[in-house]
Amino acid sequence: MPGTVLVSELLAVRDLHHRYGAREALRAVSFDVIRGEFVAIVGPSGCGKSTLLRVVAGLLSPTAGTVEFDGRPVLGVGDGLGMVFQDYGRSLFPWLRVQANVEFPLKRTVPAEERHARAAEVLDAVGLASHAHDYPWRLSGGMQQRVAIARALARHPDLLLMDEPFGSVDAQTRADLEDLVLDLHHRMDVTVLLVTHDVDEAIYVADRVIVLSAGPGTVTEEIVVPLSRPRDQFATRADAKFVELRSQVLAQLMR
Ligand code: ADP
Repeated sequence: MPGTVLVSELLAVRDLHHRYGAREALRAVSFDVIRGEFVAIVGPSGCGKSTLLRVVAGLLSPTAGTVEFDGRPVLGVGDGLGMVFQDYGRSLFPWLRVQANVEFPLKRTVPAEERHARAAEVLDAVGLASHAHDYPWRLSGGMQQRVAIARALARHPDLLLMDEPFGSVDAQTRADLEDLVLDLHHRMDVTVLLVTHDVDEAIYVADRVIVLSAGPGTVTEEIVVPLSRPRDQFATRADAKFVELRSQVLAQLMR
């Protein structure tokens, strides 16, 4: 129909609950992620953000509720998803060089020649082409996290899940990594779902911010971020709209 905008939902989380024994981590969480969106989930420490991401990734089964990815229920770890964790030091294999780390998840499914080509492509995209033959432990923390991002992207995921991905680096590196991920989201046409406890970061990167309450986590608000792209660490954060959204999210978190 003329004038109709087709919106395609990539991820649908419906009435999700998760318990670790007697401890209730998530309560009735529902939200969608539209293909192409950059969504940030923000909430205080311990509210269930990592649990939520692990359930979405199929690494944990929900106690109740459903997750649908690309129209199909998530019942275990499947294709189409890439994941980046906070702790890059433990997620990379120290005995493998950077390129081999990036190729590792493709080993059983992608022929060697294509694996090499994909590794070269994503290492170039994260600015590490010249470090393909280094060991990860020779690189700075920020560079190691770039390797982890490249490894997640090498699978050509439709959805990139990021769990506090910039939590272990200094402020300047954090800003650089935020901008790198914004650039990759734009250039590689990947949908991103990122969790963070940092309200400013959530607003800076996202098209939409989902606010979770203190544990057990439940969605208290969804806020559209109407800030223009490309974003800029100085101009965007100084924008009156940014400041207003920041107060809105903080007020919600403090309720
Ligand atoms: P966040 O990522 O927001 O900090 P988590 O998802 O890590 O929150 O944890 C949510 C709650 O579940 C916390 O109370 C935490 O202590 C608890 N929790 C997390 N993992 C486990 C586990 N493996 N066993 C028992 N409790 C857990």
